[in-house]
Amino acid sequence: MAPSAAVGTGTGNREGWRMARVLFIVNQHPNEAFSTAVARETAKLLRAEGHTVVFAKVNFGETTFGKALAGKVGKRSLRAEESLLDKKAIGLAKSFSSPFVYNFHCTPSDSEYWHEEKRRGKNFYAEERIGSWLVEVKAAYRPFPERLRKRIEANPAIQKNRGFYQGSSYLMRTSSHQASLAAGINPGRIAEELAETISQRHIAGSAARRRRAWRKNLRKQRKRRARR
Ligand SMILES: [Zn+2]
Repeated sequence: MAPSAAVGTGTGNREGWRMARVLFIVNQHPNEAFSTAVARETAKLLRAEGHTVVFAKVNFGETTFGKALAGKVGKRSLRAEESLLDKKAIGLAKSFSSPFVYNFHCTPSDSEYWHEEKRRGKNFYAEERIGSWLVEVKAAYRPFPERLRKRIEANPAIQKNRGFYQGSSYLMRTSSHQASLAAGINPGRIAEELAETISQRHIAGSAARRRRAWRKNLRKQRKRRARR
């Protein structure tokens, strides 16, 4: 789960473009693998522009689904377990020495989430969170095989901690690449739009903001000197 050693936020190349270090967090929810595919495509495009993209994949065994499957659920509720995972992701983002951190997730195409005005007609949505961007990718889902569900439900630890799986039918289905393509959700196109957002709005945008702040500061200092 640890990203490679930090080497600063980035450097400018000869053309004056800002080359940035970018962190992609994937697999916090293993049943959202379609978003990992989008992350891989997006990384290719950003690397082609000269940016460095590092992946941090959450270990399957640390995820709620991994724990349920292994029967290692303890006494915590699903919600408590999830907030623990969120905290880990926030810690990971903080330890990365660059502001460009993206946590990839999927939201089912049949979810109310996509009905909200700001997301209508979109196949992905990037929202700023503490120290990172949450990237939700639209995906069509398919149910997990019956035998998998039975295996989880029959586990003594799950039997003891019913709260863990209460209202969690979401964990019983998984994003499907095939079904998403069939539903007209194109991962390549999402990656293109997302790479452009990251490269133009976030990276170049933040460099421009810093340049403006620097110039403003310079003008202030000149005025101060002139007054002396
Ligand atoms: Zn998720």
